[in-house]
Amino acid sequence: MQDVLLHSCCAPCSTAIIEWMMNNGYTPTVFFSNSNIYPLEEYKHRQSELERFLQEKGLPFVEDDYDHTEWLTDMRGLEHEPERGPRCTQCFRFRLLRAARYAKAHGFALFATTLASSRWKDIEQVNAAGQWAAEQVGDLEFWAKNWRKGGLQDRRNELLRQYAFYNQQYCGCEFSQRIKPSLQE
Ligand code: SF4
Repeated sequence: MQDVLLHSCCAPCSTAIIEWMMNNGYTPTVFFSNSNIYPLEEYKHRQSELERFLQEKGLPFVEDDYDHTEWLTDMRGLEHEPERGPRCTQCFRFRLLRAARYAKAHGFALFATTLASSRWKDIEQVNAAGQWAAEQVGDLEFWAKNWRKGGLQDRRNELLRQYAFYNQQYCGCEFSQRIKPSLQE
């Protein structure tokens, strides 16, 4: 079994990936680092839904500090950018750098993220941010697997129904709340 630090954004995006890892020789430690989420109640809701699943699976869960003020400072000037634009690049970098630093400090050789599992995200944009984060800390590999293939999209939807997970209607930040709910997954 190989240990992997898995940065996770929410239960709907994470559970099929976690299950796949457990069935394929990997032991994920789930790292919840999502200071982008607004408001705090929404953050707590997403965190508790993911933790509910992990407790059942007996997997470790690490919750990073929540600092939305720091996140907003990092996004300054990008508030009006569209989704998939430069604000999202900066947001991915913000979270994945924290994950990479945690992975390096705790002896992981490999880290991954659930951020690109939603079909509304740009896989290349997420993977570029993950690669960038790995390069910042050094001696760490970012696992740029396509988590939508191999039946994982269908399994994601099955688990969503099976566990009746809360399925958020916007990406996470206050700027994404402008987006029509029907466009979210
Ligand atoms: S839309 Fe989503 S990915 Fe983009 S900045 Fe907001 S929370 Fe981050």
